[in-house]
Order: sequence, then C-alpha cells, then structure tokens
Amino acid sequence: MATYKYDRLRILVTGGAGFLGSHLCERLLNEGNYVICLDNFFTGQKRNILHLMDNRYLEVIRHDIVNPILLEVDQIYNLACPASPVHYQFNPVKTTKTSVMGSINMLGLAKRVKARILQASTSEVYGDPTLHPQREDYWGNVNTIGIRACYDEGKRCAETLFFDYYRQNNVDIKVVRIFNTYGPRMHPDDGRVVSNFIVQALKGKNITIFGDGTQTRSFCYVDDLIDGMIRMMNSVKGFTGPVNLGNPFEYNMRELAEMVIRLTGSGSKLEYKPLPMDDPKRRQPDISLAKEKLGWEPHMMVEEGLKKTIEYFRERINQ
Ligand code: NAD
Ligand code: UDP
Repeated sequence: MATYKYDRLRILVTGGAGFLGSHLCERLLNEGNYVICLDNFFTGQKRNILHLMDNRYLEVIRHDIVNPILLEVDQIYNLACPASPVHYQFNPVKTTKTSVMGSINMLGLAKRVKARILQASTSEVYGDPTLHPQREDYWGNVNTIGIRACYDEGKRCAETLFFDYYRQNNVDIKVVRIFNTYGPRMHPDDGRVVSNFIVQALKGKNITIFGDGTQTRSFCYVDDLIDGMIRMMNSVKGFTGPVNLGNPFEYNMRELAEMVIRLTGSGSKLEYKPLPMDDPKRRQPDISLAKEKLGWEPHMMVEEGLKKTIEYFRERINQ
C-alpha cells in the first residue's frame, strides 16, 4: 500500500483527538506510521494528543468531516462522531450529518486515493436487542423516531454506505461494531456511565443510577479495543466484517456502581434517577467472529481496567 515516495504508511484518523482516537493515534505512531489526526474538537481535546505533538510523524488538522477534504493517505480510520448520549443528543441533526455526510466524504476520499477504510460502528446498531448476546447477523431493534436514533440510525446508514461503496465502487472497507469501551482520556464531563461513576465517587458525590440499575452493559478496556481495531484494519482483503469488538463480561449498573465505590474507597451513596427513553436493557457482544477471523479477544479484567481509569481521573480532577 505504501507508495514509492514514502517508507511509512500514511494513516488518517478522523476523531483523532477524542477518547478512542487519541489512543489509536498514539499506537499507530508507536508502530512507525505517519498519522494525520483530523478533528473538529467538538468532544475531542488537544490535551488528549498534547504528548504526541512533538512527534514529527504526526500532523493535526482541524476539520469537520461533514465537509469534503482531499488528502493522500493509505488507510482511514473513521471515528469522528460524538459517542456519549449526552453529546450526540446535544445537536442530533449534526450527529446524523456527521455519520451520513461524513461517511460519504470519507468513502469518496478512500475511493479516490484507493485507501483502505475502517468504520467505527457501534453496538447501538442493535438498538434495544431482542437477541442476547448480540451476534453480527442480528438486524437489531431500533426506534427510528426516538432520542437515540440520531446516533443509531446515523451509524446504521453509515454501515449501509460502506457496503454500497464496497459493492458499487470496490472500496476496500472494514466495519467494526464497538461495544462500551472505557479508560483514561474519557472526558470527566463526558456523561457516559464509567466516567460519571468514577468522577462522582472521587468527588464524594452521589452516584447517579438511571432506572433501577438492572440494565446491563459489557465494558472493554481501551487498549484491548484499539488492538482489535488495528487487527481488523490489517486483516485480509475482502474480509469486510461487520465484526463485534467488546468484552463479553456483563454487569448491571448497580454492580458497576458498587465496584467503583469499593475500588475508590469512596463514601458515596446511590441516587436513583429516571431511565432515559429507549435505554437498552441488556447488552453483551458475541465475539466468536473476532476470535476466529482476527485471533482477538480482550485481556484486561474489568476491575484492573477500572483501577487504571480511576488513577487517571484522580490525577485529572486534581489538576
Ligand atoms: P469521543 O466523543 O471521545 O470522540 C469522537 C471524536 O470525534 C471527538 O474528538 C470529536 O471532536 C470528533 N468529531 C465529532 N464530530 C466530528 C465531525 N463532524 N468532524 C470531525 N470530528 C468530529 O468518542 P469515542 O468514545 O472516542 O468514540 C469514537 C468513535 O467510536 C465514535 O465514532 C463512536 O461512535 C465509536 N464508538 C465508541 C464507543 C465507546 O464505547 N467509546 C462505542 C461504540 C462506538
Ligand atoms: N447510566 C447511569 N448513570 C449515569 C450514566 C449512565 O445509570 O450517570 C446508565 C445508562 O442509563 C445506561 C448505562 O448506564 O443504561 C450505560 O450508559 P452510557 O451512556 O455509558 O452508554 P450507552 O447507554 O450508550 O451504552
């Protein structure tokens, strides 16, 4: 893939200053690639990539993928899109535009420069699933007019666009469906459950449980997830996915809250709040396909990953 002029792969990471994107840029630089980190800094932050800034193989571009851009690259990881319900519901029309128009622009770029392109899709394409655990051949259960639809339907349409560019234009696509992932560099005000619980526990505030706390999620540590994404990007041509990436260990939100209180040594109490509309009741990935095709499975136990994340937030909120 690398052209005659370059001895390194040129890799574009959209959403590169976000939580997952910054870890991905770091890992790709460490592996000797030339990385273009593109972001509109809606939920991403310069501080996430500050430690990479003096690497001469990193280039940072402020750009919104809703608008086209022309760059010479070999690979594209398309991560640009707010991921926390609080943020994607802030401007829902923009969220759908980012997934749909952004994917059209990135796929058009991939087609033009013959780059391989990977889409960061999501377990949200399964909606509030009626099949448990979720396999890739399950078509999902999404409310098209609910408050999560801007994200869920945007990501579903993005998958459709990826597969149509593949069938129609022979674009070299890869699609991963990411399940809840956590770790250092989540934004303290991100609104997602792991960062909320840890920040609340460290500040001695009440832990906010939405609903009765029996809804479940399965949490993957960021390093494991990034490893899966890179394996997928470099998998054999023609293996498009979609592939689930996530940690199959399932917890309910009350168990998670109790674990965070124990690991932080906090005296915080549980406070129950109304469950948001269309909040999925159960979520757990079936990762047989990732194991078979990518030789991938997560290694970080949830308690260990939470300890590392707690350490990060302890430092961050004292700054
Ligand atoms: P994040 O909000 O930290 O990162 C998203 C990044 O995209 C931010 O840096 C943001 O500024 C940028 N961005 C948003 N809209 C943009 C636009 N129009 N143009 C350019 N940049 C834009 O979230 P994250 O957790 O790092 O998620 C990254 C990707 O992975 C997202 O596409 C998300 O849907 C997907 N994903 C994440 C999870 C998870 O648990 N973290 C789960 C499923 C899917
Ligand atoms: N949640 C919670 N308290 C919070 C934030 C979230 O109980 O302060 C719940 C939320 O209702 C959902 C689960 O935790 O059932 C995961 O929420 P998150 O926003 O992290 O991700 P998603 O719902 O997109 O999986």
